[in-house]
Amino acid sequence: MPTALAAATPSTTPSVRELLAQGRKSFSFEFFPPRTEAGERTLWKAIRRVEPLAPSFVSVTYGAGGSSRDRTVEITKRIATETTLRPVAHLTAVGHSVAELRHIIGQYADAGIRDVLALRGDPPGDPKGEWTAHPRGFAHAHQLVSLIRTLGDFTVGVAAFPERHPRSASWTEDILHFAAKCRAGADYAVTQMFFHVEDYLRFRDRLASVGCLTPVLPAVMPATDVRQIARFAELSNARFPASLAARLEAAKDDPAEGHRIGVEYATEMAERLLAEGAPGLHYITLNKSTATLEIHRNLGVRS
Ligand code: FAD
Repeated sequence: MPTALAAATPSTTPSVRELLAQGRKSFSFEFFPPRTEAGERTLWKAIRRVEPLAPSFVSVTYGAGGSSRDRTVEITKRIATETTLRPVAHLTAVGHSVAELRHIIGQYADAGIRDVLALRGDPPGDPKGEWTAHPRGFAHAHQLVSLIRTLGDFTVGVAAFPERHPRSASWTEDILHFAAKCRAGADYAVTQMFFHVEDYLRFRDRLASVGCLTPVLPAVMPATDVRQIARFAELSNARFPASLAARLEAAKDDPAEGHRIGVEYATEMAERLLAEGAPGLHYITLNKSTATLEIHRNLGVRS
């Protein structure tokens, strides 16, 4: 179990805003709140394994509702108070009034947390179902960004979609709405998972064409097992490369080979993204840090 350092002592790691302003790259790891005690132990093991790398931040996703949301808040606070890491709290507008959102942000501020990833979220139950805003809440992420900005000196991130948000009617609409989040005060963005570097580069070009220069951290998600592909499609709409799917299919009875293939593909993607000037990488760990740590080591990045 982690040992307490000092309650509510803010991490000395610079914020993503400060880091990127200094022209440095940001490397971060994403976790989710587990449902079971065994899952909680796995999560903390993964968190402790990334800690010595001194990443720019670690983030914890916000659940669709109920107890998983409380767990997000608890885990994020615990990272702030019991580790040397800088936590970024994901927060969505789903099912919350503005008053409730203020209260959660206040809880974070009390725990010394100054970083929030501001998201609209998806309808609970069926993420592809009809979106309905809380009657006293927000309809879109830019409103949450504005609220957080009024509540203190937070570093605020937002979501970006290199393959376009599935609910956007056109690229023009998508990019204009993204730019509105940035104008509302977003310091940086993190992408949805994607598997084609070109999608990230085209997205960045589209932003530049409307004068939006907000740094966009590409997400790196190692796919190490062919059985994950359907789940990824459910989570993200990301196009999965047919050649990678075929290689993982051929290795489906050999987990070590599947792992090797997934890490190799993600490392190549990460190398290209950095060579193309991406401001850093955001690793999606699924609470298992082994593959993402291998990718990070392959890149030879020093903390
Ligand atoms: P918005 O920016 O509000 O966009 C949603 C849609 O509305 C887009 O189609 C946009 O074009 C449109 N839109 C925006 N503004 C307007 C406007 N003014 N008028 C009309 N249309 C508009 N979900 C969770 O539940 N928990 C998480 O922790 C979580 N973490 C995520 C982390 C990352 C890095 C990413 C990429 C996604 C994450 N998500 C999470 C999923 C996210 O909540 C959903 O993808 C959601 O559908 C979009 O959120 P958004 O913040 O981009 O919303």
